Amino acid sequence: MRIVLLGPPGAGKGTQARRLAESTGMNHLSTGDMLRGEVASGTELGLLAKSYMDRGDLVPDSNIISMIQIHIGDPAGVLLDGFPRTVVQAEALDEALKQAGTPIDKVVHMSVDTDELIRRLSSRALCTDCQTPYNLESSPPAVPGKCDRCGGAVVVRDDDKPEAVSNRMNVYRQLTEPVLHYYRSRGDVVEIDAIGTPDEVFAKLSQSIGAGNSGRPSN
Ligand code: AMP
Repeated sequence: MRIVLLGPPGAGKGTQARRLAESTGMNHLSTGDMLRGEVASGTELGLLAKSYMDRGDLVPDSNIISMIQIHIGDPAGVLLDGFPRTVVQAEALDEALKQAGTPIDKVVHMSVDTDELIRRLSSRALCTDCQTPYNLESSPPAVPGKCDRCGGAVVVRDDDKPEAVSNRMNVYRQLTEPVLHYYRSRGDVVEIDAIGTPDEVFAKLSQSIGAGNSGRPSN
């Protein structure tokens, strides 16, 4: 299966994609996680990406497309989280999938109203080692600042700080909403209301891709 998860920053794409990947065995491809890995390793791409990411701007399409292309044909299936974010990326994805002979099965749009997004982003934190997300209000790590899963440091992302958040929202409206229109014009989009507890949203997401509440596809 090839699934694209679309939605604004703070919609819960990472949390849900991680969970769905665990229950289905699909490969979770998060361009944000990949880029944070490049930044942490100090690679050329990481050095370039960091300045864009800290401001909440998008990293250039050419860098993103070459970074993700080799993973797209994974026979285990892929769950795309945070990609495509521009129409140019969506067209490149179509082309790569056409060549791999594996079209997109579902595009899922997770919608959340802006006030709720800002509330979520202002309390969000992330493990710097394994990227597990936390909400410091509703689901903090058991030991403050320490990841429950791997013991790594749990910190607020630089791009979840207020100035970067408002830029990310604008970037989403200007560059990523057109991707939603691109897929809607083909009738490919399943809408889910991503308000609720992570369990409730996971149930809606699983149902929307025909995977039942366990997240495992029924066929
Ligand atoms: P995310 O973790 O998905 O919120 O991504 C964090 C940041 O990484 C974004 O604000 C962008 O700066 C960059 N990024 C992630 N995915 C992409 C993409 N598909 N295209 C361009 N930049 C991206």
